[in-house]
Amino acid sequence: MTGSVTVRVPAKVNVQLAVGGRRPDGFHDLANVFLAVGLHDKVTASPADHQDDRGGAGGPRLTVSGPDADHVPLDDGNLAVRAARLLAERHGRDPGVRLHIAKDIPVAGGMAGGSADAAGALLACDTLWGTRTPYPELLALCAELGSDVPFSLAGGAALGRGRGELLEPLETGGTFHWVFATADGGLSTPDVYRTCDRLREAAGGGATVESVPDPEPSLALLDALRRGDAAALAGELANDLQPAAVALRPALNATLEAGLAAGALAALVSGSGPTCAFLVKDAEAGTRTAQALRASGTCRTARPASGPVRGAEVV
Ligand code: ATP
Repeated sequence: MTGSVTVRVPAKVNVQLAVGGRRPDGFHDLANVFLAVGLHDKVTASPADHQDDRGGAGGPRLTVSGPDADHVPLDDGNLAVRAARLLAERHGRDPGVRLHIAKDIPVAGGMAGGSADAAGALLACDTLWGTRTPYPELLALCAELGSDVPFSLAGGAALGRGRGELLEPLETGGTFHWVFATADGGLSTPDVYRTCDRLREAAGGGATVESVPDPEPSLALLDALRRGDAAALAGELANDLQPAAVALRPALNATLEAGLAAGALAALVSGSGPTCAFLVKDAEAGTRTAQALRASGTCRTARPASGPVRGAEVV
């Protein structure tokens, strides 16, 4: 066993999030085009220095640092803790480990921060414990932990089908530049899906798999990604959850407008929100747009980041 292992893991933005009808199990089928972007959490796993009543190592113990640390659960509600337990159970070993998350991804921001930490904890514990889980099995464990977790492990760009967990890697022809405007307070992903169903029902279309068309990826969007063409991608960005996120947080309209007024090529809510994502022409436009958004008073802060970037990796 080594001293400690740190894994760096990226946030994601959904460049397309097509949401199908509510399935009988309550989930929605998705066509989810993910792009990993350069905002990262770091997850460190170190040998346990604690024991439970029976002399075992007493399960994972978690600490979190960073500006949003107060909003992150430290118990089994934390996806990183669940990831460590799941890996230990799969290998029939003691789950004792110290985990530390240096959190930079906005919490409950629609950028898959919890999923990133789960993927990071899996890889960090697998390396620390020497359990050498084959990559396809790691991906399967990720899918057990949550729909977005496999993508956090894989990174790059990918199409997620099913609940988003069935991944198909996508080719990208270059780097895309973004600005992410974070909001005060998060939005609950289940609340946003419920609101999406409610809005669809109110519009008279129904909200079940029978009444909503199957979600399909946009071929023009996949082509823009493949060609690295930001202007073409700007015309194709789409998020079926955006009306629900905006209904729950109407102030997001002002944030989206401020980014467009600052010259962004396109604006959309990231996943279930409330973070807003702005596609910009280049790194310089990113710096300028972020400054303008911070000055607009319509967000907590705004940060440039580009993608695709690599998935979870030991540093
Ligand atoms: P997604 O984009 O996958 O829907 P999100 O980015 O909107 O997720 P998260 O940051 O993953 O949201 O947090 C959602 C909730 O999950 C939080 O409010 C928190 O209670 C819980 N949670 C569990 N584990 C973590 C974690 N490691 N970091 C942050 N939140 C976590």
